Amino acid sequence: MPEVVLAIDIGGTTVKGSVFVDGNEVPPGSTVPTFEKSSGAFDAVLAVLSALAGTARALGHEPTAIGVGTPGLVDRRAGMVRYAANLGWTNLPLGQLLETRFGVPTLIDHDARTAARAEMAARPALRNFVFIPIGTGVSAAVVVAGKTVAGARGQAGELGHIPTVPNGRPCSCGQFGCLEAYASAGAVLARYIAGGGNAESAADVAGVVGKDGLANEVWADAVNSLATGITTLTATLDPEEIIIGGGLGAAGSVLLDPLREKVESLLRWRDPPAISASRAGPRAGLLGAALLGSAARSNSTHTGQESS
Ligand SMILES: [Zn+2]
Repeated sequence: MPEVVLAIDIGGTTVKGSVFVDGNEVPPGSTVPTFEKSSGAFDAVLAVLSALAGTARALGHEPTAIGVGTPGLVDRRAGMVRYAANLGWTNLPLGQLLETRFGVPTLIDHDARTAARAEMAARPALRNFVFIPIGTGVSAAVVVAGKTVAGARGQAGELGHIPTVPNGRPCSCGQFGCLEAYASAGAVLARYIAGGGNAESAADVAGVVGKDGLANEVWADAVNSLATGITTLTATLDPEEIIIGGGLGAAGSVLLDPLREKVESLLRWRDPPAISASRAGPRAGLLGAALLGSAARSNSTHTGQESS
């Protein structure tokens, strides 16, 4: 019987999903449906999964597992989203609710750690790295000896809330000067507009770096904050590589070149880790969710316990 995984990637405002049969996306490149979460994030998740189950059945396949990447504070082992401010979830037993509803084994994990699974699959030789998705916010997935590190409460890797600027800008978390308040796509755009610039996205700001004084200033602050965070991670973890993903990860050399230079200048006492762009790109979350679903299925058929 083929393995038929319904994989979903929950974002701040959208839910994306795809069907994977024996590891292959069918139909290829079917990232839709994407729902606005206005009707409630959980309803959007159910709607996307129902649509995916319908797609699978239309192709003659019965779903065998579900994999979910979600933002927030996530306890993977309990299948529980402890807190997700953007989604309005507190102590939501998401894994169990979906298992009951769809009748197949389900695994959920933090979105950054889920996406890091796709990076691991793309480069199995890479055992120690930090994956940093930069989008609306900034988080990190820490991978040590080939395993993602969740921490005691599932809250490891909250890189966005490392203070990088003393008495700096207020952050949504209640602190001041957080990395996220300078280096997230949201912060870059907000700071550019507040300074009198005209842009619709952080990518627009990235596009005028080198030609526009305000963009240069906002961008330099973002790079400096990120470099401070990466320097801290490097001193703590000694990763082989730092992988930048998320929407801003696609900015390419306009971000990576000054970032490498700044990290190197901060780490005087050692060689800096390589800094690269995500191999899996914007689809890392979905690909990782498919891998999570595969793990859910093999766990239920062999041991009933998740081992990694
Ligand atoms: Zn913060």
